[in-house]
Amino acid sequence: MPKTANQNTKIVATVGPACSSYNGLLDLAKAGVDVFRLNFSHGKHEEHLEVINHIVAINEKYKFHLGIMADLQGPKIRIGDIADKEVLLVNGKEIVFTTDPTPGTAERVHMALESFPKEVRPGERILLDDGKLVLEVIETDKHKEVRLKVIFGGKLSSKKGVNLPDTKLSIPCLTPKDLADLEFILTQPVNWIALSFVRKAQDVKELADLIEAAGHQAKTIAKIEKPEAIKNIKDIIKQANAVMIARGDLGVEMAMEKLPTLQKEIIRLCITRARPVIVATQLMDSMIINPSPTRAEITDVANAVLDGADAVMLSAETSVGAHPSKVVHAMNKIIQEAEKHYSTSIQLASPSPKSKTFWSDTVCYHAARMAQDVKAKAIIGMTVSGFTAFKISSYRPIDSRVFVFSDQISILNTLNLVWGVQTFFYDRFTSTDETIYDVVNILLKAGKVKQGDIVINTGSMPMHKKYRTNMLKLTLVD
Ligand code: PEP
Repeated sequence: MPKTANQNTKIVATVGPACSSYNGLLDLAKAGVDVFRLNFSHGKHEEHLEVINHIVAINEKYKFHLGIMADLQGPKIRIGDIADKEVLLVNGKEIVFTTDPTPGTAERVHMALESFPKEVRPGERILLDDGKLVLEVIETDKHKEVRLKVIFGGKLSSKKGVNLPDTKLSIPCLTPKDLADLEFILTQPVNWIALSFVRKAQDVKELADLIEAAGHQAKTIAKIEKPEAIKNIKDIIKQANAVMIARGDLGVEMAMEKLPTLQKEIIRLCITRARPVIVATQLMDSMIINPSPTRAEITDVANAVLDGADAVMLSAETSVGAHPSKVVHAMNKIIQEAEKHYSTSIQLASPSPKSKTFWSDTVCYHAARMAQDVKAKAIIGMTVSGFTAFKISSYRPIDSRVFVFSDQISILNTLNLVWGVQTFFYDRFTSTDETIYDVVNILLKAGKVKQGDIVINTGSMPMHKKYRTNMLKLTLVD
């Protein structure tokens, strides 16, 4: 089923060999993908560049506003190579992790993180291969070697990921690889840059500072996947422009049973702060192979929608899966049905007078309230920075469409991630009266509103000053 005009929850799709051609990306865009994610854990810059060029070309040709997200790998820790491809770690046995490159055996494995012996303490858990294997630190020489006990063994193969849920890591959030990737990314028309393994607000600030220093407009996404990030969640949400609940690593590093309630709580906090929030990982996992999702996956996607997520994300389902566009079609169906039952209880936390943006907050808030009172077909916003769109969307006006106009294509593409927001290019800012007339006419011609509809216009007066939103108007479409 294709996307409908009233669909509010957005879809992010990870790009990989299964969809990275021009036609592959176009198929997914037509199926309803709103934002493409380039995963910098994989692929060369030339390959990412080709994908970016395809997306830009599709946007130009079809007048889409597909967003582009670059996802930095961050301090992902991995073991080195294993001799004979695979070894069996047996419960109760001891094993040494060494920072010296050595072909791995059941007794001795290379740990690629140089500072590992200095980072860990006796008693801490070391998780391997998405938590399938569990080890415990017995002792460390704080130099090159760490002795561990196998608590829960199994087969271990080369380059498997390592999670350290108990360890307070000292390594920086942006690795040398991230900085090199960022140098490339900041030359590209990327809208969102996601930072992996964020631990504190300062991690996100460092990324934001680099973006700003490059004079780039990209906005930050904090990936929440560490217990430390959960401890600092309010500060991180305040600092970041958006948040991704990266359930893959989060589900390994936290007690798994905490995941569903953490998801709900993070979404609630993000909506309160008007930060777009993405629910990621394994939503339609079985569709990497199968042509339809499991009952549990259908329920998971629907629950993410009902929790209030701005977007749901596909990873391997679209990057390496067998049925990329089928997955998006299936997701549309689930989203459309779930949205019929969207709860109103998460809406409309009134703005704080202490906020620096209280005036525009309150205009956006009352636009959403008024939309309910007068049964407005749409709330129409003008934006330069995207602020108005984030705010209006955060009040989740479920019965009104949110149409946002801007003269900056990059902001329109950025806003494609945001719940309910549909974007339009408009660059004729003359007078308030004319602009209101123009934008309503554009929507009328596009079939988005019809004669007799009530719409609510928000904007800024006087127009040429480009202040934050300070005006609210009821308009009858005639
Ligand atoms: C995750 O861990 O859920 C995630 C989205 O991150 P990545 O795919 O980069 O491991």
